[in-house]
Amino acid sequence: MNAFAPNPLRQGLVEDRLPEPCTVVIFGASGDLTKRKLVPALYSLMAERLLPPSFAVVGYARKEVSDVAFRGEMKEWCGKHARHKQTEELWSQFEKGIYFHTGDYDTPEDYQALKGRLDQIDKERGIPGNRVFYVSTPPSTFPIVVKQLSDNGLINKTGTGPFTRVIIEKPFGTDLQSARDLNAHCLKHLAEDQIYRIDHYLGKETVQNLMVFRFANAFFEPLWNNRYVDHVQITGAEALGIEGRGGYFDHAGILRDMVQNHLFQVMALTAMEPPVSLNATDLRDEKVKVLKALRPIPEGRFDEFVVRGQYRAGSVAGRPIPSYQEEVGVTAGSTTETYVALKMFIDNWRWAGVPFYLRSAKAMPKKVTEVALVFKDAPHRLFGEKSSNEPNVLAIRIQPDEGISMRFGSKVPGNTLDINPVNMEFRYGTSFGTEPPEAYERLQLDCMLGDQALYTRADEVEASWKYISRIHDEWKRSFARGIPTYEAGSWGPDESDAMLRRSNQAWRRL
Ligand code: NDP
Repeated sequence: MNAFAPNPLRQGLVEDRLPEPCTVVIFGASGDLTKRKLVPALYSLMAERLLPPSFAVVGYARKEVSDVAFRGEMKEWCGKHARHKQTEELWSQFEKGIYFHTGDYDTPEDYQALKGRLDQIDKERGIPGNRVFYVSTPPSTFPIVVKQLSDNGLINKTGTGPFTRVIIEKPFGTDLQSARDLNAHCLKHLAEDQIYRIDHYLGKETVQNLMVFRFANAFFEPLWNNRYVDHVQITGAEALGIEGRGGYFDHAGILRDMVQNHLFQVMALTAMEPPVSLNATDLRDEKVKVLKALRPIPEGRFDEFVVRGQYRAGSVAGRPIPSYQEEVGVTAGSTTETYVALKMFIDNWRWAGVPFYLRSAKAMPKKVTEVALVFKDAPHRLFGEKSSNEPNVLAIRIQPDEGISMRFGSKVPGNTLDINPVNMEFRYGTSFGTEPPEAYERLQLDCMLGDQALYTRADEVEASWKYISRIHDEWKRSFARGIPTYEAGSWGPDESDAMLRRSNQAWRRL
């Protein structure tokens, strides 16, 4: 029997269903994310006929903007950023449901006014009070919005009737304590099944395909363990420097910005056991088990497991990049890391003894996010010296050029027995001939459908912060030691290569 649905790209992980009529209210709607991602994603969902027939989107921010002006602005941004081409017909249908509401984030009267406005929109558009509140403001405002929504009667806490769901943007906390505090705060005002903590990596097609790849096929999973896998490498590299985001980045660093959320999610999906089902509880239970099985970094051996670095001046693809220290918004003498590499062990039956190496950085030679399983050598070297020295690798490319490649040894044509590594490639673009949806399409749709599987749960966020916060604590203690540097456009500090070399392993050349 063919286990595949006709078109996995469209099929996704939940069956095609239409959400109930609802309104999406975006807090922080004057911001960059709303324009570039959130509203264009909703437009694409409508173009795919995945929005309910009665639907509205309300932008909320302090800025004074009329409905008409906001519609005009969104038209322009959707034209630039939506995956689906804009047509007059589709746009006129979509814009009828777009509104803007001006208000402060901490003023109860403004939420009361919003409530009245939403009730009125419900009546106009035949929406039965279902609401998604998308909190897309800077993180300091997250708890304020949640409290005001709750205090002003905008959250249905009865468990019956119209739904209220709240999407919270990243970062969810800056360390273990702040994540716990934010969880406690949210859970005071909302039930866990109303809280949608977003990590847009989980909305990426290739990240979801990690599960399809592992669990819809017969021949990968038997190899997916410590018997065959030598080690795993997960890379999230950016070719850009911090590009004017110094004020934000200098407080965050790459460990918070990329690793705690995106790379840990990718690692958990790569390492987890097959879930009993794809429902949110079963899937997230398995991811949490992985995070709980992470071996704490042994006392006194920190440098064997963690390497950080900061870029010096250099160039990427011929484009000069200034030193991190010279970037606007960076504090003089900052020790914020723009590169981090971790060696981690997952202490469970499947992965005992297999290092998981994670690296993430700015100002790398190219932009690439991938997971690579590097296999152990064949048990016997039948071809002796002629055998290729390169291990078998299974690489899952998350971005760009989404796809999967297998690297193995093959005989070089000719009368001698020489073996060279070759690649077998699958690429989304060529195989399906269609562009994968934007992560924010899938994630907003899932929230409207009430499916939390691709959102992170309270215990999951805390388990990852627990590991990450220990690293930050150690960096604080060793502040005086400074930070190694690497040239922009290189693959990072020498210390990172040395970390793998100690185990006879090496970073893949990407
Ligand atoms: P912005 O910094 O552009 O903020 C969005 C809006 O929030 C602002 O336009 C402002 O609107 C309002 N706001 C509320 N409180 C404050 C405050 N204290 N200081 C400044 N502005 C405030 O954010 P983005 O749109 O870029 O991102 C939104 C959220 O999404 C953030 O939490 C971010 O971390 C997260 N995120 C963003 C990504 C991106 O690509 N942009 C990617 C991943 C996550 P007004 O003053 O008009 O009320």
